Amino acid sequence: MPVLTRLIPSPVVVDISRGALDDLAGLLADQRISSNGRLAFAISGGSGAALRERFAPALPSADWYEVGGGTIDDAIKLADAMKSGRYDAVVGLGGGKIIDCAKFAAARIGLPLVAVATNLSHDGLCSPVATLDNDAGRGSYGVPNPIAVVIDLDVIREAPARFVRSGIGDAISNISAVRDWELGHTVRGEDIDGLAAAMARQAGEAVLRHPGGVGDDAFLQVLAEGLVMTGISMSVAGDSRPASGACHEINHAFDLLFPKRAASHGEQCGLGAAFATFLRGDREMSALMVQVLRRHGLPVLPGEIGFDEDEFVKVVEYAPETRPGRYTILEHLDLSADQIRDAYRDYAQTIGS
Ligand SMILES: [Zn+2]
Repeated sequence: MPVLTRLIPSPVVVDISRGALDDLAGLLADQRISSNGRLAFAISGGSGAALRERFAPALPSADWYEVGGGTIDDAIKLADAMKSGRYDAVVGLGGGKIIDCAKFAAARIGLPLVAVATNLSHDGLCSPVATLDNDAGRGSYGVPNPIAVVIDLDVIREAPARFVRSGIGDAISNISAVRDWELGHTVRGEDIDGLAAAMARQAGEAVLRHPGGVGDDAFLQVLAEGLVMTGISMSVAGDSRPASGACHEINHAFDLLFPKRAASHGEQCGLGAAFATFLRGDREMSALMVQVLRRHGLPVLPGEIGFDEDEFVKVVEYAPETRPGRYTILEHLDLSADQIRDAYRDYAQTIGS
């Protein structure tokens, strides 16, 4: 009898708990990631100072680097600054931007990355992708998965609630993204990885159906675990397919067409997922998504993030251009601007204001 198995690329350590950061040095030493505490910390220029003040006393051998911003140039500068030190690992301590910069810098100088998320704004904290702004807008850069992911729920609670809300929209959008993947499989014979799809969908369903809110530890635990599982699902699939379909094309289109006015990643992905699910004809799921997004204070209509109907039609029309080659309900239906407008009006009327 053949016994076939496969290895899943994943972090060596995943610690999602209250107080997880109290003994970061001990955790990294126990896991043999850094026995002497020679760590290069990447933090933000703003809120990073408070984190440094809090954690530096317990980490005397660590060096601290402020990240300028979220561009590829910032990430390269960070790598250049860190490369002369003899470090065991890079630690990205902060929100999505900091972790993305740290991921890219760590990959560039050949060090493992420890991702310490201080908010739950998206599923990138544990993914093999760094999202960075470049001259052409925004790019996704392939990097190794973090070697460790640490999420201290006490620290997450201190982040503004809108950052946690963003993570909710991103997690729920998995359900729509997996549907798009299945569509690509059925219509175009695209390979689908059942394990990656299951992991991403379960993460989305768990967040969608959890009765709690951003103030509950139980809910934050499920959300944080869901975002980490989603990141790993992307490593299993080898790309972002399990967590990125029409929902994310719509999100990217908002970012690229209206860079100054775009809302958060999760706000746009959640709205995109509810609309894409409606386009797919799955009225029941679309209604449930709308209900849950609203309960968490997330937008479900473009007007709620400051975009009018014409702008939203442009966004949806442009969305397929943001991910050439990715087959989703948008490419499948290939709607004209007028058809998008009709579908949007139908959606807005169905969900009510
Ligand atoms: Zn996302």
